[in-house]
Amino acid sequence: MSAIDDLPPLRDVVERFDLAAKKSLGQNFLYDLNLTGKIARAAGPLEGVTVIEIGPGPGGLTRALLANGAARVIAVERDPRCLPALAEIAAHYPGRLEVIEGDALETDLSKLADPHVGPARIVANLPYNVGTALLTQWLDTEIWPPWFDRLTLMFQREVAERIVATPGERVDYGRLGVLCGWRTKARILFDVPPSAFTPPPKVTSSVVELVPRQMPENCDRRALFLVTQAAFGQRRKMLRQSLKGLSVGGRAVDANALLERAGIEGTKRAEEIDISGFVRLARAASEPAG
Ligand code: SAM
Repeated sequence: MSAIDDLPPLRDVVERFDLAAKKSLGQNFLYDLNLTGKIARAAGPLEGVTVIEIGPGPGGLTRALLANGAARVIAVERDPRCLPALAEIAAHYPGRLEVIEGDALETDLSKLADPHVGPARIVANLPYNVGTALLTQWLDTEIWPPWFDRLTLMFQREVAERIVATPGERVDYGRLGVLCGWRTKARILFDVPPSAFTPPPKVTSSVVELVPRQMPENCDRRALFLVTQAAFGQRRKMLRQSLKGLSVGGRAVDANALLERAGIEGTKRAEEIDISGFVRLARAASEPAG
Protein backbone atom coordinates (compact mmCIF):
# COMPACT_ATOMS: atom_id res chain seq x y z
CA MET A 1 0.00 0.00 0.00
CA SER A 2 1.26 3.52 -0.73
CA ALA A 3 0.81 6.94 0.82
CA ILE A 4 -1.71 8.20 -1.75
CA ASP A 5 -3.88 5.18 -2.59
CA ASP A 6 -4.39 1.50 -1.77
CA LEU A 7 -2.35 0.35 -4.74
CA PRO A 8 1.02 -1.40 -4.32
CA PRO A 9 4.33 0.55 -4.33
CA LEU A 10 5.57 1.29 -7.85
CA ARG A 11 8.80 -0.64 -7.37
CA ASP A 12 6.70 -3.78 -6.76
CA VAL A 13 4.52 -3.03 -9.78
CA VAL A 14 7.56 -2.68 -12.04
CA GLU A 15 8.96 -5.96 -10.74
CA ARG A 16 5.70 -7.90 -10.97
CA PHE A 17 5.03 -6.79 -14.56
CA ASP A 18 8.69 -7.04 -15.53
CA LEU A 19 8.91 -3.44 -16.74
CA ALA A 20 12.68 -3.10 -17.10
CA ALA A 21 13.16 0.44 -18.48
CA LYS A 22 13.93 0.71 -22.20
CA LYS A 23 16.25 3.51 -23.25
CA SER A 24 14.82 3.50 -26.78
CA LEU A 25 11.46 4.62 -25.33
CA GLY A 26 12.99 7.30 -23.09
CA GLN A 27 11.92 5.37 -20.01
CA ASN A 28 13.08 6.93 -16.75
CA PHE A 29 10.43 6.09 -14.20
CA LEU A 30 9.44 7.99 -11.08
CA TYR A 31 8.74 5.71 -8.11
CA ASP A 32 8.34 8.40 -5.46
CA LEU A 33 4.63 9.16 -5.13
CA ASN A 34 5.41 12.29 -3.08
CA LEU A 35 7.24 13.67 -6.11
CA THR A 36 4.56 12.64 -8.60
CA GLY A 37 2.07 14.26 -6.20
CA LYS A 38 4.09 17.48 -6.37
CA ILE A 39 3.96 17.41 -10.18
CA ALA A 40 0.21 16.72 -10.15
CA ARG A 41 -0.39 19.62 -7.75
CA ALA A 42 1.76 21.88 -9.97
CA ALA A 43 -0.85 21.29 -12.70
CA GLY A 44 -3.34 23.29 -10.60
CA PRO A 45 -6.70 22.24 -9.19
CA LEU A 46 -7.75 19.16 -11.13
CA GLU A 47 -11.40 18.82 -10.06
CA GLY A 48 -13.55 18.71 -13.20
CA VAL A 49 -10.46 18.64 -15.41
CA THR A 50 -9.66 16.06 -18.08
CA VAL A 51 -5.95 15.37 -18.03
CA ILE A 52 -4.16 13.97 -21.04
CA GLU A 53 -1.03 12.20 -19.88
CA ILE A 54 1.68 11.14 -22.33
CA GLY A 55 3.72 8.09 -21.40
CA PRO A 56 2.20 6.91 -18.11
CA GLY A 57 4.64 3.98 -17.93
CA PRO A 58 3.94 2.03 -14.71
CA GLY A 59 1.60 4.84 -13.62
CA GLY A 60 3.33 6.88 -10.90
CA LEU A 61 2.14 10.24 -12.22
CA THR A 62 -1.19 8.76 -13.35
CA ARG A 63 -1.94 7.68 -9.80
CA ALA A 64 -1.03 11.10 -8.43
CA LEU A 65 -3.28 12.85 -10.98
CA LEU A 66 -6.21 10.61 -10.04
CA ALA A 67 -5.55 10.89 -6.31
CA ASN A 68 -5.42 14.67 -6.71
CA GLY A 69 -8.93 14.72 -8.11
CA ALA A 70 -8.62 14.74 -11.93
CA ALA A 71 -12.10 14.00 -13.27
CA ARG A 72 -10.59 11.86 -16.01
CA VAL A 73 -7.13 10.87 -17.14
CA ILE A 74 -6.63 9.81 -20.74
CA ALA A 75 -3.17 8.31 -21.00
CA VAL A 76 -1.32 7.58 -24.25
CA GLU A 77 1.38 4.94 -23.87
CA ARG A 78 3.50 3.43 -26.61
CA ASP A 79 4.85 0.48 -24.64
CA PRO A 80 2.27 -2.35 -24.49
CA ARG A 81 4.16 -3.93 -21.57
CA CYS A 82 2.77 -1.14 -19.33
CA LEU A 83 -0.89 -1.84 -20.11
CA PRO A 84 -1.57 -4.53 -17.44
CA ALA A 85 -0.12 -2.30 -14.70
CA LEU A 86 -2.26 0.61 -15.93
CA ALA A 87 -5.34 -1.66 -16.03
CA GLU A 88 -4.96 -2.19 -12.28
CA ILE A 89 -5.05 1.57 -11.73
CA ALA A 90 -8.09 1.87 -14.01
CA ALA A 91 -9.88 -0.79 -11.95
CA HIS A 92 -9.06 1.12 -8.77
CA TYR A 93 -10.56 4.35 -10.18
CA PRO A 94 -13.62 3.10 -12.12
CA GLY A 95 -14.54 5.21 -15.14
CA ARG A 96 -11.75 7.74 -14.58
CA LEU A 97 -8.75 6.31 -16.43
CA GLU A 98 -8.67 5.51 -20.13
CA VAL A 99 -5.46 4.14 -21.60
CA ILE A 100 -4.73 4.43 -25.29
CA GLU A 101 -1.93 2.31 -26.67
CA GLY A 102 -0.13 4.32 -29.32
CA ASP A 103 2.48 6.83 -30.35
CA ALA A 104 1.64 10.29 -29.02
CA LEU A 105 3.34 11.83 -32.05
CA GLU A 106 0.79 10.12 -34.27
CA THR A 107 -2.21 10.84 -32.02
CA ASP A 108 -4.49 13.85 -32.42
CA LEU A 109 -4.86 14.66 -28.74
CA SER A 110 -7.39 17.42 -29.45
CA LYS A 111 -9.91 14.73 -30.33
CA LEU A 112 -9.52 12.84 -27.04
CA ALA A 113 -10.98 15.27 -24.54
CA ASP A 114 -14.66 16.23 -24.59
CA PRO A 115 -14.75 20.06 -24.56
CA HIS A 116 -18.25 20.02 -22.98
CA VAL A 117 -16.99 18.25 -19.86
CA GLY A 118 -14.57 20.96 -18.71
CA PRO A 119 -11.06 22.17 -19.39
CA ALA A 120 -8.42 19.79 -20.67
CA ARG A 121 -4.79 19.86 -19.64
CA ILE A 122 -1.67 17.95 -20.65
CA VAL A 123 0.51 16.72 -17.79
CA ALA A 124 3.48 14.47 -18.49
CA ASN A 125 6.93 13.30 -17.60
CA LEU A 126 7.86 13.29 -21.27
CA PRO A 127 10.14 10.77 -22.94
CA TYR A 128 13.31 12.77 -23.63
CA ASN A 129 13.70 11.61 -27.19
CA VAL A 130 10.38 13.07 -28.39
CA GLY A 131 9.63 15.78 -25.82
CA THR A 132 10.49 18.78 -28.00
CA ALA A 133 8.74 17.31 -31.05
CA LEU A 134 5.56 16.79 -29.02
CA LEU A 135 5.59 20.28 -27.56
CA THR A 136 6.14 21.83 -30.99
CA GLN A 137 3.26 19.79 -32.39
CA TRP A 138 0.90 20.98 -29.65
CA LEU A 139 1.85 24.66 -30.06
CA ASP A 140 2.28 24.90 -33.83
CA THR A 141 -1.40 24.52 -34.75
CA GLU A 142 -3.77 26.42 -37.01
CA ILE A 143 -6.36 26.94 -34.28
CA TRP A 144 -5.51 29.20 -31.33
CA PRO A 145 -6.37 29.45 -28.42
CA PRO A 146 -5.92 25.69 -28.27
CA TRP A 147 -8.05 22.92 -26.75
CA PHE A 148 -5.94 22.77 -23.55
CA ASP A 149 -5.76 25.41 -20.84
CA ARG A 150 -2.32 24.49 -19.52
CA LEU A 151 0.68 22.24 -20.11
CA THR A 152 2.67 20.92 -17.14
CA LEU A 153 5.61 18.99 -18.53
CA MET A 154 8.90 17.54 -17.42
CA PHE A 155 11.90 18.05 -19.73
CA GLN A 156 15.65 17.88 -19.44
CA ARG A 157 16.76 21.13 -17.78
CA GLU A 158 18.57 22.20 -20.95
CA VAL A 159 15.33 21.94 -22.98
CA ALA A 160 13.39 23.74 -20.23
CA GLU A 161 15.88 26.60 -20.48
CA ARG A 162 15.41 26.80 -24.24
CA ILE A 163 11.63 26.95 -23.74
CA VAL A 164 11.77 29.96 -21.38
CA ALA A 165 14.79 31.69 -22.95
CA THR A 166 14.62 35.38 -23.85
CA PRO A 167 16.93 37.31 -26.21
CA GLY A 168 20.33 38.61 -25.28
CA GLU A 169 20.79 37.05 -21.91
CA ARG A 170 21.37 33.48 -23.01
CA VAL A 171 22.71 31.34 -25.81
CA ASP A 172 19.75 28.97 -25.55
CA TYR A 173 17.32 31.48 -27.08
CA GLY A 174 16.15 30.06 -30.39
CA ARG A 175 13.14 28.95 -32.41
CA LEU A 176 11.65 26.93 -29.56
CA GLY A 177 11.76 29.94 -27.23
CA VAL A 178 10.14 32.17 -29.87
CA LEU A 179 7.32 29.69 -30.53
CA CYS A 180 6.69 29.07 -26.81
CA GLY A 181 6.93 32.74 -25.83
CA TRP A 182 4.74 33.88 -28.73
CA ARG A 183 1.82 31.61 -27.91
CA THR A 184 2.23 30.89 -24.20
CA LYS A 185 3.49 32.22 -20.92
CA ALA A 186 6.15 29.69 -19.99
CA ARG A 187 8.07 29.29 -16.74
CA ILE A 188 10.19 26.69 -14.99
CA LEU A 189 8.46 25.53 -11.80
CA PHE A 190 11.10 23.30 -10.16
CA ASP A 191 14.01 20.98 -10.86
CA VAL A 192 14.10 17.23 -10.33
CA PRO A 193 17.49 15.58 -9.73
CA PRO A 194 18.63 12.50 -11.70
CA SER A 195 18.44 10.43 -8.51
CA ALA A 196 14.63 10.73 -8.49
CA PHE A 197 14.37 8.49 -11.58
CA THR A 198 14.92 4.80 -12.23
CA PRO A 199 17.22 4.47 -14.05
CA PRO A 200 18.74 7.92 -13.31
CA PRO A 201 19.32 10.01 -16.45
CA LYS A 202 22.64 11.84 -16.87
CA VAL A 203 21.13 15.30 -16.42
CA THR A 204 18.80 17.29 -14.18
CA SER A 205 15.18 17.63 -15.26
CA SER A 206 12.73 20.51 -14.82
CA VAL A 207 8.97 20.81 -14.66
CA VAL A 208 7.76 23.56 -16.98
CA GLU A 209 4.36 25.25 -17.07
CA LEU A 210 3.02 26.72 -20.31
CA VAL A 211 -0.25 28.66 -20.21
CA PRO A 212 -1.70 29.57 -23.62
CA ARG A 213 -2.01 33.28 -24.38
CA GLN A 214 -5.56 34.04 -25.43
CA MET A 215 -4.42 36.63 -27.95
CA PRO A 216 -0.80 36.18 -29.07
CA GLU A 217 0.55 39.03 -31.21
CA ASN A 218 -1.03 38.59 -34.60
CA CYS A 219 1.04 37.03 -37.40
CA ASP A 220 1.02 34.11 -39.81
CA ARG A 221 2.51 31.15 -37.95
CA ARG A 222 4.06 29.65 -41.11
CA ALA A 223 5.78 32.95 -41.88
CA LEU A 224 7.04 33.06 -38.28
CA PHE A 225 8.29 29.49 -38.67
CA LEU A 226 10.19 30.32 -41.88
CA VAL A 227 11.65 33.58 -40.59
CA THR A 228 12.91 32.02 -37.35
CA GLN A 229 14.21 28.99 -39.25
CA ALA A 230 16.28 31.23 -41.54
CA ALA A 231 17.41 33.60 -38.77
CA PHE A 232 18.44 30.97 -36.20
CA GLY A 233 19.68 28.57 -38.89
CA GLN A 234 22.67 30.89 -39.20
CA ARG A 235 22.51 32.48 -35.78
CA ARG A 236 26.02 33.93 -35.79
CA LYS A 237 25.33 35.87 -38.99
CA MET A 238 23.74 39.30 -39.25
CA LEU A 239 20.06 39.18 -40.23
CA ARG A 240 20.66 40.95 -43.56
CA GLN A 241 22.76 37.91 -44.42
CA SER A 242 20.84 35.06 -42.73
CA LEU A 243 17.49 36.20 -44.19
CA LYS A 244 18.86 36.26 -47.75
CA GLY A 245 17.16 33.58 -49.81
CA LEU A 246 14.10 33.54 -47.54
CA SER A 247 10.95 32.56 -49.37
CA VAL A 248 7.46 32.81 -47.83
CA GLY A 249 4.33 31.46 -49.51
CA GLY A 250 6.40 30.63 -52.58
CA ARG A 251 7.49 34.28 -52.89
CA ALA A 252 11.15 35.32 -52.59
CA VAL A 253 11.58 37.96 -49.91
CA ASP A 254 14.10 40.82 -50.16
CA ALA A 255 15.95 40.65 -46.82
CA ASN A 256 16.86 44.35 -46.62
CA ALA A 257 13.36 45.56 -47.52
CA LEU A 258 11.87 43.11 -45.03
CA LEU A 259 14.10 44.30 -42.22
CA GLU A 260 13.32 47.91 -43.01
CA ARG A 261 9.57 47.29 -42.98
CA ALA A 262 9.88 45.46 -39.66
CA GLY A 263 11.97 48.33 -38.23
CA ILE A 264 14.94 46.06 -37.48
CA GLU A 265 18.57 46.87 -38.20
CA GLY A 266 20.14 44.45 -40.65
CA THR A 267 23.30 44.24 -38.57
CA LYS A 268 21.47 42.57 -35.68
CA ARG A 269 21.69 38.83 -35.08
CA ALA A 270 18.75 36.48 -34.45
CA GLU A 271 19.55 36.10 -30.76
CA GLU A 272 19.11 39.88 -30.25
CA ILE A 273 15.57 40.00 -31.63
CA ASP A 274 12.68 39.66 -29.20
CA ILE A 275 9.41 37.89 -29.98
CA SER A 276 7.68 41.11 -31.06
CA GLY A 277 10.54 41.69 -33.50
CA PHE A 278 10.07 38.24 -35.04
CA VAL A 279 6.31 38.83 -35.21
CA ARG A 280 6.95 42.07 -37.14
CA LEU A 281 9.29 40.23 -39.49
CA ALA A 282 6.70 37.48 -40.04
CA ARG A 283 3.99 40.05 -40.73
CA ALA A 284 6.18 41.95 -43.16
CA ALA A 285 7.19 38.69 -44.87
CA SER A 286 3.61 37.56 -45.42
CA GLU A 287 2.29 40.93 -46.65
CA PRO A 288 2.67 41.75 -50.32
CA ALA A 289 5.54 44.21 -50.82
CA GLY A 290 4.32 47.72 -51.58
N1 SAM B 1 5.08 8.72 -16.50
C1 SAM B 1 6.02 7.71 -16.10
C2 SAM B 1 6.78 8.17 -14.87
O1 SAM B 1 6.78 9.39 -14.64
O2 SAM B 1 7.38 7.35 -14.20
C3 SAM B 1 6.98 7.33 -17.22
C4 SAM B 1 7.75 8.50 -17.82
S1 SAM B 1 9.01 7.97 -18.96
C5 SAM B 1 10.10 9.37 -18.87
C6 SAM B 1 8.30 8.21 -20.57
C7 SAM B 1 7.16 7.30 -20.95
O3 SAM B 1 6.72 7.62 -22.28
C8 SAM B 1 7.49 5.81 -21.00
O4 SAM B 1 6.49 5.08 -20.34
C9 SAM B 1 7.52 5.45 -22.49
O5 SAM B 1 7.17 4.13 -22.78
C10 SAM B 1 6.51 6.43 -23.04
N2 SAM B 1 6.72 6.81 -24.45
C11 SAM B 1 7.88 6.92 -25.13
N3 SAM B 1 7.67 7.34 -26.38
C12 SAM B 1 6.33 7.51 -26.50
C13 SAM B 1 5.49 7.96 -27.56
N4 SAM B 1 5.99 8.32 -28.74
N5 SAM B 1 4.16 8.01 -27.34
C14 SAM B 1 3.63 7.66 -26.13
N6 SAM B 1 4.38 7.25 -25.09
C15 SAM B 1 5.71 7.18 -25.27
